Amino acid sequence: MIDFSLSPSLMDLKERTAAFVREYVIPEERYLDEHTGFPAEKLKELRRQARAAGLFAPHVEEEWGGMGLNMREMSIVFEEAGHSLLGPLALNCSAPDEGNMHLLEMVATQAQKERYLRPLVEGEIRSCFAMTEPPPGAGTDPSLLRTSAVRRGSDWVINGDKWYITGAEGAGFAICMARTEDGQGQDSRQPRASMFLVDMDNPGFQIVRKIPSLDADFAGGHCEIAIRDCVVPEEAVLGAVGEGFKYAQVRLAPARLTHCMRWLGVAQRSLDIAAQYANTRESFGQSLGKHQMVAEMIADSATEIHAARLMIWHAAWVLDTGGNAKYETSMTKTYVAETVNRVVDRALQICGSHGISMDLPLATFYRSVRAFRIYDGPSEIHRTVIARQVLKSAAQVAQTEGFVPEGAATRPETTEAARRGEGL
Ligand SMILES: Cc1cc2nc3c(=O)[nH]c(=O)nc-3n(C[C@H](O)[C@H](O)[C@H](O)COP(=O)(O)OP(=O)(O)OC[C@H]3O[C@@H](n4cnc5c(N)ncnc54)[C@H](O)[C@@H]3O)c2cc1C
Repeated sequence: MIDFSLSPSLMDLKERTAAFVREYVIPEERYLDEHTGFPAEKLKELRRQARAAGLFAPHVEEEWGGMGLNMREMSIVFEEAGHSLLGPLALNCSAPDEGNMHLLEMVATQAQKERYLRPLVEGEIRSCFAMTEPPPGAGTDPSLLRTSAVRRGSDWVINGDKWYITGAEGAGFAICMARTEDGQGQDSRQPRASMFLVDMDNPGFQIVRKIPSLDADFAGGHCEIAIRDCVVPEEAVLGAVGEGFKYAQVRLAPARLTHCMRWLGVAQRSLDIAAQYANTRESFGQSLGKHQMVAEMIADSATEIHAARLMIWHAAWVLDTGGNAKYETSMTKTYVAETVNRVVDRALQICGSHGISMDLPLATFYRSVRAFRIYDGPSEIHRTVIARQVLKSAAQVAQTEGFVPEGAATRPETTEAARRGEGL
């Protein structure tokens, strides 16, 4: 039996998160600047309030100062937090820190956790994840990874270039992916790679520039980084040498889904704003919402949000019950990223000129959400993964049960023609 009801304690958490975002976070949105982001002092205060409300670091184990929620519980809380772009920041569950905290919890040594995870959970520092490289390095295709790390005595020396590294400016440390050996890893399509914890004040790890971008209000921007003879000790290796791509999956599958959870909150708020406007604004003798074309936009958005939410809940359940959810998170990520873009766009259209003003958050949402169809795997790559899985399953069925094209068995004359090589 499928049960979609929320337990009383989860319902309470949902309502408390919603109230916190409404009362404390949304009023602060006016300080979110499209060029300079959100003032650090104001974020500190919001975090203090979130902690006082018992809503801090929901995804982290209680042992490390978090609330210890599972993925299904997170999907409820993150969506509510996501009603504002500042909500996840206030609760300290925004990207890329949230994914990095998860990875550190799973893979780091006790000493690394004390040094990096604890201050990250407490909100004292920020972090970044450095994987993507400028051409001809790794982008959608990780096998093109060029950044290398070689042993020198008891140290490692890293060299390479990275770009679009979110949050790098002002971060305390980076988790940096580098090729550590020639030859093949477990997956023959990928080189061996490892992850390194690099302090941002390492002189070999230099931010070249903050890349001007559509969504400039992310804390720390998206940065280009030059890594030149960057020396780190053996203790900087995160997990085992050569397991970098495996850990990237440990980080990416849940992080993909938590992105969806947060962005779903943006979609829901956009629809709420559009519906309010459609109820109150009149044109040609009736409210906007009574015009069929506006009603259709509202209905489509509500339906797609509902479908997106159920996909997130299901993928969360797969992860909670021990699955890797690669297939489910690919489908969910593609659908949610495209849905949120459509929903925000429709909301902006319904609100007319008011939609593009900075009086409403829609213009900021519109600028910010576009990139979600690219990062954590562009839609095209996820569609490739999904199609590959479907085709593989079909091939397996054909192998075990014999290939009988649908309908062909009932048309022996056609299959007979095919057998004779005459085509269908
Ligand atoms: C806002 C933002 C934040 C980011 N933050 C980080 C970060 O913190 N750390 C980090 O390491 N990276 C980050 N990235 C990089 C992100 O992970 C990459 O953008 C993503 O992996 C795609 O790589 P690429 O941009 O190099 O695209 P490319 O590899 O240059 O591909 C360009 C386009 O080609 C198409 N394409 C590529 N391959 C195929 C294919 N096989 N089939 C069909 N179409 C294809 C897709 O449409 C794709 O968008 C961020 C990106 C953005 C936009």
